[in-house]
Amino acid sequence: MTAGGFHTPVMLREVIHALVCRQGGVYVDGTVGGGGHASGILEHAGAGSILIGIDCDDEALGESHRRLEKFGARAMLVKDSYANIAEILKGFHIGEVDGLFLDLGVSSHQFDETDRGFSIYRDAPLDMRMNRSGSMTAYDIVNGFSEERLRQIIRNFGEEFRAGKIARTIAARRVRAPIRTTGDLAALIMSVVPAARRGRHIHPATKTFQALRIAVNDELSSLIACIESGVEILRRGGRIAVISFHSLEDRIVKNLFRSFEKGCVCPDDFPVCVCGKKPQLRVLTRKPAVPQAEEMAANPRARSARLRAAEKV
Ligand code: SAH
Repeated sequence: MTAGGFHTPVMLREVIHALVCRQGGVYVDGTVGGGGHASGILEHAGAGSILIGIDCDDEALGESHRRLEKFGARAMLVKDSYANIAEILKGFHIGEVDGLFLDLGVSSHQFDETDRGFSIYRDAPLDMRMNRSGSMTAYDIVNGFSEERLRQIIRNFGEEFRAGKIARTIAARRVRAPIRTTGDLAALIMSVVPAARRGRHIHPATKTFQALRIAVNDELSSLIACIESGVEILRRGGRIAVISFHSLEDRIVKNLFRSFEKGCVCPDDFPVCVCGKKPQLRVLTRKPAVPQAEEMAANPRARSARLRAAEKV
């Protein structure tokens, strides 16, 4: 648990400022979690505003249900993936929205829960599913995927330059017995890194854990799907705001926003546009906004947060 309880919302003031563009509007929080941002959005968007809160984790939904109860029917919660935002809104007969918000990654609650396997520092079964009804766990990847697929996952989703060595070590170790816990995996990865190279600030397994979590939860494809359908359903003047916590996510958000801002996808050497695609977004944050120093000091999770926002044109 964090000082704030279930989860302390990151950059709350900045999110409200970037997102809430119309009083009484319709807002979607695709990662409602403990409902901290959602509650702030509903308060600031005022009477008549509504919020659809999505999360794939039952415990998060239980917590946000309690937190948002005071808003009555203005807050509607759904268990699903934000990747399915278009279908979810159809289910509510909502055609357009004023704001879409995503706060990516794991909540403090998920991270702190000992049995979920998100933390390197707590020995737990290799699970890492945000949606506990999901079929694939980190155990399945670590013990079942080929060495080459493991290497690709660790390299591409963890940006870990020792991916080859780590994948090789995992493949050699699991022949004897399956690697069952986060503690086993963290110790194994630690053994791959020479003692002199073990940084004091981050655990040598951090990037591999990030990679496995992204793979288990199909995080990057879901993010792309959500932004692409989100831009479609934004009303003119509506806002999209995304907080990311590592460079892979941030790059995806930045590049997608830019391509929607540009519109045209014709090759640069075409003399005239033949694709006919028009700009759909205006980027509001050339550089991502980051938390104030006081927030970073008070909430370690905020330290790597980057907020990007754009407006539908
Ligand atoms: N803003 C929230 C915290 C969000 S933490 C608050 O103020 O409390 C991120 C949340 O996103 C977690 O609860 C996690 O379960 C959820 N999540 C992650 N991937 C998801 C996905 N693809 N679809 C829906 N929810 C997702």
